Amino acid sequence: MVELKGLRKVFGRLEVLRGIDMSVDKGQILSLIGPSGSGKSTLLRSVNLLETPTGGEVWLDGTRVNADLKGLAYERHVNGLRREMQMVFQQFNLFPHLTVMQNLTIGPMKLLGLSKAEAEARGEELLCKVGLAEKALAYPARLSGGQKQRVAIARALAMRPKVMLFDEVTSALDPELVDEVNAVMKDLAAEHITMLIVTHEMRFAAEVTDWAVFMDEGMVVEEGPPDRLFSDPEHPRTRSFLRKHL
Ligand code: ADP
Ligand code: MG
Repeated sequence: MVELKGLRKVFGRLEVLRGIDMSVDKGQILSLIGPSGSGKSTLLRSVNLLETPTGGEVWLDGTRVNADLKGLAYERHVNGLRREMQMVFQQFNLFPHLTVMQNLTIGPMKLLGLSKAEAEARGEELLCKVGLAEKALAYPARLSGGQKQRVAIARALAMRPKVMLFDEVTSALDPELVDEVNAVMKDLAAEHITMLIVTHEMRFAAEVTDWAVFMDEGMVVEEGPPDRLFSDPEHPRTRSFLRKHL
């Protein structure tokens, strides 16, 4: 579903991604771990073109993401792809002036052409799924961090994306709110939604994901099934990272 071939990203003289090869199969859940500054967010941002890759290839379901297009054609291409890859951030990025339901319906109405009734039906279903049916009319400011993040996940799902990208979605939350967000992600995992998850929670990664990739200094150091990678890492850098984070 997602494939990276030799992905490179340079900021000025800083080489942040130094030739990343990675693939996520349809229905697979991949966790990406690594020290702060190793390039995890830049990788996710390059996948959905919030950053333009300096080199290499990004593919989504058989379409070249970083296509060589210009002007309007490029814009159309990017907008189309962003619908298919929804990203959830550490800072929820909900629209503060819209209710929870409006946050969920605006994308499907404006970008997918759903009617208000259709979008609201979809919104209600998703709010039930994340346990927030009673918050449809609330404004984001009235929600806890965990609730906001669950709305953000529901909003992303409302677009029925091919892939969900998660960037440390629980790291801004108070510890007691982490589990409710992880529970929602576990439910998604059970539905085999294709997901690429950047996380610093090894226990969650081990429990929920099919494949773990350890990155350091812009390169993939080691990868494998999470139980194997976490219990028996081969590379000294993976070992040293896990010693600090397990
Ligand atoms: P991680 O998510 O693994 O913590 P990031 O992808 O955020 O790592 O950052 C990797 C490196 O790239 C860091 O050194 C960071 O300072 C740098 N970086 C990220 N975004 C930019 C940018 N827009 N301009 C310049 N440097 C950046
Ligand atoms: Mg990051």
